[in-house]
Amino acid sequence: MNRLRILVTNDDGIFAPGLLALKQALQPLGDVFVLAPERPRSATGHAVTLHKPLRIHEVELADGSRAWASNGTPTDCVTLAFDVLMEQQADVAVAGINDGANLGWDITYSGTVMAALEAAILGIPALAVSVATDGAPVLTFEPAGVLARSLAERLAAHGPVEASLINVNVPNLPTGAIKGTRVTQQGRREYTDRTVTRTDPRDKPYYWISGMLKDDPRENGSDISAVRSGYISVTPIEIDMTAHAMMPTVESWFPTSADGRRDT
Ligand code: MN
Repeated sequence: MNRLRILVTNDDGIFAPGLLALKQALQPLGDVFVLAPERPRSATGHAVTLHKPLRIHEVELADGSRAWASNGTPTDCVTLAFDVLMEQQADVAVAGINDGANLGWDITYSGTVMAALEAAILGIPALAVSVATDGAPVLTFEPAGVLARSLAERLAAHGPVEASLINVNVPNLPTGAIKGTRVTQQGRREYTDRTVTRTDPRDKPYYWISGMLKDDPRENGSDISAVRSGYISVTPIEIDMTAHAMMPTVESWFPTSADGRRDT
């Protein structure tokens, strides 16, 4: 097989252990270009930096290999890696391995998944990989790395699917305890007790966004239920957010007159 040109980024920052694990897992496939945020940028979603200069600087990862760090967001890192480091030649892009789940509706908050989406928008076959820790330390990045390598190879051979990516979540279990892999659909994720209000030492209120996950009985076949049952979840995701179920209602608010023009 030809050596692949692989774009790697994350949202946990350039020195996150998951990034190094991903880089090392992908290394046998070809040339890995690592460009990641210089500090942790989790939960920045699809944010892009438009009003200040972006810089790239070379760094050495813990295994002595060369990588690049940027003051931009994960999405900025994808753009810069593609345009500056890789001269717009990339066979596949992988974001991760994130420390924490990226499941259900939460993926819109995720810097990891949105970095992969940015790569998909640029026409690069793209993959986001997370270990679904929910707060506990990551036991091992190994199964996530193994799957990242095999999926990156398949995706590169398949070629890009317009504005689509594959979102992978690996349960935080020892390698031998993972039951298998399931292709899933995106589940729901709703929270209760979202905003905690406390009082600062100067008697002014401050707020902390967190929340408890609400159980959802409709989650059968979802990414969330797969991970909860000990399976790796593999979900194809696309950017199209059109609410097709809502179309007829909204159409009815703008009736078409007899001559075919819409009344507004
Ligand atoms: Mn993260």
